[in-house]
Amino acid sequence: SELEPASINPATGERLRSFASFTDAELEGRVARAHAQQRDWAARPLAERADALRALGAHLRTIRGEAAATMTAEMGKPLAQAQGELDKCAWLCEWLAEHGPAMLADEPRSRVAVEGSQRSYVAHRPMGLLLAIMPWNFPWWQALRFAAPALLAGNTALLKHAPNTTGCALAIEAALLAAGFPEGCLETLVASHGQVAGLIADRRVRGVTLTGSTRAGRSVAALAGQHLKKTVLELGGSDPYLILPDADLDHAAAVCAKARLFNSGQTCVAAKRFLVCEPVAEAFTEAFLAQLRAAVVGDPTDPTTTVGPLARADLRAGLEDQVERSVAAGARVLHRSEVPDSPGAYHPVVALGSVDETNPAAREELFGPVAAIMTVRDEAHAVAVANRSDYGLGAAVFSRDVERAEAIARDQLDAGACFVNGMVRSDPRVPFGGVKDSGYGRELGRHGMLEWVNAKTVWVD
Ligand code: NDP
Repeated sequence: SELEPASINPATGERLRSFASFTDAELEGRVARAHAQQRDWAARPLAERADALRALGAHLRTIRGEAAATMTAEMGKPLAQAQGELDKCAWLCEWLAEHGPAMLADEPRSRVAVEGSQRSYVAHRPMGLLLAIMPWNFPWWQALRFAAPALLAGNTALLKHAPNTTGCALAIEAALLAAGFPEGCLETLVASHGQVAGLIADRRVRGVTLTGSTRAGRSVAALAGQHLKKTVLELGGSDPYLILPDADLDHAAAVCAKARLFNSGQTCVAAKRFLVCEPVAEAFTEAFLAQLRAAVVGDPTDPTTTVGPLARADLRAGLEDQVERSVAAGARVLHRSEVPDSPGAYHPVVALGSVDETNPAAREELFGPVAAIMTVRDEAHAVAVANRSDYGLGAAVFSRDVERAEAIARDQLDAGACFVNGMVRSDPRVPFGGVKDSGYGRELGRHGMLEWVNAKTVWVD
């Protein structure tokens, strides 16, 4: 069943605003505009497109407060984190304006001759009009992480955002216009699944990206495959954090708690499975629980709050069900925090111990503040358990032997990003994406930029 496009404050349950879905005629007007704009936009000098991104970065810094407040009101993340998200988006725009053009330069730059040609090289040309289907957990970051490089490369975009963050989606479109992007570079669509299916089939749309659940990714990719549209998919994860016997346990516990609770636990690359080697299982668990106990679940606009409500009441119900099934399957509740006495979609911070590999908490993605602690025999066992997951987004290894941990990160873990002694996170400078059911393709970095270009061979005989 589809959600209606409406902002409902998850901290209070209050309906803030409803939005009318686009009629088919309205939708067609937007698609036609974005399609028509693409050739003009791509014909502008790259430096001009980079300037537009730079201006967007500066604009985001001016609207930061208001945009963050809307985000918190619509999906409940702590306000300081919402402001941080705007800052990160501004950094992305500024960083790309500076470094993106070099990634898009012809290869090789000197346009050398392949034997038999006078001149040959690869030109990075835009693919055209792209469709982005985005989730509510980082409403600005997820959308701009896709759009900023895609626009710099000369593409234009249609944004189908999550229905509960329609206010953010409209603000994103407005921000681009205010920063000087021409109309049609990015069109926010308030559209149904049926309308989206029509867009995927539309010959004017040349590529589709989705960030969201594995289930959504499967259905959108199936449709895109039928119409031979390229897809980039950023899907769910169940990132394992490996605690080796020689880890700095206080550091590991602090990082693990932050990586589990950031964004109220609703992050694709959140730490979800804590694989602790037996010799340090007790000590780590104690330190980790102390960190989790310090979390404050509450009103996301209160600066002392560290964990807000979940984004929607149905998401809380789903997480509650996962916790119940995990406990029924043998997990032990080591900690369960208080929640505010309020109609908001609050879920307590929960730590589950004695989680085995068959437990729902180990097999499913827990999208909220619930930690699954699993004891493993040793390093080899930790790696085996880490990899026996359908997901493969991120992973982290904690050890004082950095070289050894780096070798595990580099060579042994099946994931798109492996961090040593730190929290898995996205960064404009490096690619981001997964393997297995976490999706395919990359965003950010040079690899992300090149997903949305036609690497065109030019050969002068
Ligand atoms: P979804 O994955 O269903 O939604 C993400 C986006 O995809 C939304 O814009 C949604 O729009 C859209 N979408 C989903 N199915 C289709 C479809 N068939 N056609 C077109 N668009 C579609 O996430 P939910 O909000 O339902 O969250 C459920 C779970 O997904 C979470 O508990 C979490 O496990 C995971 N998730 C993972 C995220 C990540 O960052 N990897 C982000 C968000 C969720 P619509 O709502 O209109 O269907």
